[in-house]
Amino acid sequence: MTKRVGIIGGGQLAAMMAIAAKSLNISIVIQTANTSDPATSLADMTILGEVTDVEATAELAKITDVITFENEFVDLEKLDALAKSGTEFIPSLDALKPLLDKYTQRTYLQEHGIPVPQFFPIETETDLIKQPLAYPLVLKARRNGYDGQGTRIVSSESELLEAWQSMGKVPALVEEKVNFKSELAVIIARSVTGDCLVYSVVETHQVNQVCTDVIAPARIRDAIAHEVQDIAKAIANSLNAVGILGIEYFLTPDGKVSVNEIAPRTHNSGHYTIEACHTSQFEQLLRIVTKRPLGDISMRSPVAVMVNLLGYENRGSDYQKIRHQLEQLPNCYVHWYGKNSSKVGRKLGHVTILKEDYQDIDLLISTINAIWQPQKSL
Ligand code: ADP
Repeated sequence: MTKRVGIIGGGQLAAMMAIAAKSLNISIVIQTANTSDPATSLADMTILGEVTDVEATAELAKITDVITFENEFVDLEKLDALAKSGTEFIPSLDALKPLLDKYTQRTYLQEHGIPVPQFFPIETETDLIKQPLAYPLVLKARRNGYDGQGTRIVSSESELLEAWQSMGKVPALVEEKVNFKSELAVIIARSVTGDCLVYSVVETHQVNQVCTDVIAPARIRDAIAHEVQDIAKAIANSLNAVGILGIEYFLTPDGKVSVNEIAPRTHNSGHYTIEACHTSQFEQLLRIVTKRPLGDISMRSPVAVMVNLLGYENRGSDYQKIRHQLEQLPNCYVHWYGKNSSKVGRKLGHVTILKEDYQDIDLLISTINAIWQPQKSL
């Protein structure tokens, strides 16, 4: 059985995988250029190199049995040579191919009959001026966007131009602004033998395009939950993707579901699985890459709430007192990523609370936020 897993990337997702690896007796080697990344103190070894550094990945391949991804913004063409000479990547490079660019991802989904918002590619200023969508609309950089970076909602042509210029006129797409009632997400696990398990559908809340909190399971009708899960299966099967996918959706007031985004890795919307499910998304990915059978995905508690601890100031603090205060809340689990400094919007940690029901859930989220960011609630 495989024992050494390589991870491209060294952030909190790799760190949470390294923690899960301990109980499975798997050793973890990460590839990152940043020696202060959260996973460096938890992994068994670090190969120094940016995620796009294929020579570093070649080193990683030499000392591991299989390589997976925390960060998908890799150089697929260069990695292809490694794959051809026998390095096993899970998910495969073929499965990643349509996903790394928001435009090719949308096109792929559309071609496979999956509902997506209307979209158009932008290469030049003329494309911007000729784009046919009504305002407000959403401008997105095609590559390297995360946590809302590279995504802007704009209300006029001049704002669109200004936003595109401030992105450096990179290849982009414009999208209709979906008037959603809620945003949903799922984690799907697919094994090398094609077995699929879809975790509960969750509700995600965003402020300024960044996820603030997640409620599991989502408060939606069963028919909607099944539709969301069926779409996830259709996507994973059509990509022949092995591993974990995090898929985000929009739900409109008239009950229409469309896909916003697919991440070919563990995902923020699945952090609640660490305490709330029998098998976390991190353990599940390790089980998959080491060819173990999929673990039980059922929930240990009826309801779970996950709140991101997002940086709100530029400062080098580890907020120990505040973390201690959060730990006093009933059934509350605090995860701190150990980043060396706080920056506005940076994900510094998260908390998960297990609950018997949905009662007072909004109050709970605001209590957590008030403890985390006391200035804001004054
Ligand atoms: P990122 O890849 O940076 O996370 P996303 O494309 O997932 O960016 O967008 C982040 C958030 O922006 C979404 O969760 C949603 O709240 C909002 N958003 C993105 N696209 C649309 C859209 N077409 N219509 C309405 N809101 C959108």
